[in-house]
Amino acid sequence: MEVKSIQDLGLTKQREVVLQVILAAPEHLTANEVFVNAKALLPSISFATVYNSLRYLKDAGHIAEIRFGNGASRFDRVTHRHDHAICTECGKLVDIEMEHPDELVARAARISNFKPESLEFTLRGLCPDCVKD
Ligand SMILES: [Zn+2]
Ligand SMILES: [Zn+2]
Repeated sequence: MEVKSIQDLGLTKQREVVLQVILAAPEHLTANEVFVNAKALLPSISFATVYNSLRYLKDAGHIAEIRFGNGASRFDRVTHRHDHAICTECGKLVDIEMEHPDELVARAARISNFKPESLEFTLRGLCPDCVKD
């Protein structure tokens, strides 16, 4: 995995801490989880600052935001196009790195009559921890 040099981005201390939290997390954190972790590094940080920093970092392309229906947004250190698998039992969210078959994209475009730009795939089911024999 590529390592971004946070210090070179010219961010404020607060934004730097928020980015640091997301880059260090193997999971896709919610804003609330980012806040809890950021506060451990920078006790004076407020939720509003964390929230604004997330918006800023997303707009600057350093992080990605993922939304599923009406659940809380999650923040992702992987910013290139990728898919996700979500556990219907515990909510665990993991990355899937895979190519989409051209035929699938073409068929979806044909049915919708859209000119395709991207296609996202979400696998829902039980994660290994939640699968019971
Ligand atoms: Zn699970
Ligand atoms: Zn992801």
